Amino acid sequence: MLAPLLDALFPRRCLGCGRRAWPFCDACLPAIAVPSSPWCERCGRPLEVPVARCRDCPPEDIAWARSAYLYEGPIRRALMGLKFGGIRSAAAALSPAMATALDASRVPGRPPVAVTWVPLGKRRKRARGYDQAQVLAERVAGTLDLPCVRLIARVVETPPQARRNALDRARALRGAFRPARTAPAAVILVDDVLTTGATAAQCARALRAGGAEEVGLLTAARSLGGPVPARCYTSPGLQPGSVVARGNHLR
Ligand SMILES: [Zn+2]
Ligand SMILES: [Zn+2]
Repeated sequence: MLAPLLDALFPRRCLGCGRRAWPFCDACLPAIAVPSSPWCERCGRPLEVPVARCRDCPPEDIAWARSAYLYEGPIRRALMGLKFGGIRSAAAALSPAMATALDASRVPGRPPVAVTWVPLGKRRKRARGYDQAQVLAERVAGTLDLPCVRLIARVVETPPQARRNALDRARALRGAFRPARTAPAAVILVDDVLTTGATAAQCARALRAGGAEEVGLLTAARSLGGPVPARCYTSPGLQPGSVVARGNHLR
């Protein structure tokens, strides 16, 4: 009863441009890009031909990776809103497609039994009011009917990474995470964006130290660092995340 009233008082805005539409307006929809095959089997990076692994594959501690969207245009702005703008509802808009991406691609390896996330440092979580990766993980776990468990503790609060080179990043991240408790054998690690996978790999390492044998990475978006294949743009009228897999293979 409350939701329609709240919507009337505070109409929800397009996550891409702020127009009155939710989650994305008709102008933003065609600019949303989704990874599709042919791709790298291991990390889901769209390519011209299918390959078993690629140059942009995340580090070895991650068994496989999948992303719901490509980090472009409206999706980029939606994730910036989730991360820095306090727009927590963006997680509700983006997470259904994360579960669908997992189901549709039939990732290699064993069926995951729990979902966890790349934890934010305490200070930043306090400043933001929530941990965006945790919010995404909880929603994805709900859709997949898996438990969402805090398995990783952040011991070192690393400074923002934007201005660091790869070597500095690796150095700053070393020892930043440790297992928070014993991990089950197969775990899905959730984060907002996959770029190089350096941070996620450190988390995967902590999970493996905690007993996990296989860690798969599921993110809302994938940053390609290169041109996006034209086929990845969704057709107008297709609401991303509107098709949620039911009775999927993970059960
Ligand atoms: Zn829009
Ligand atoms: Zn790859």
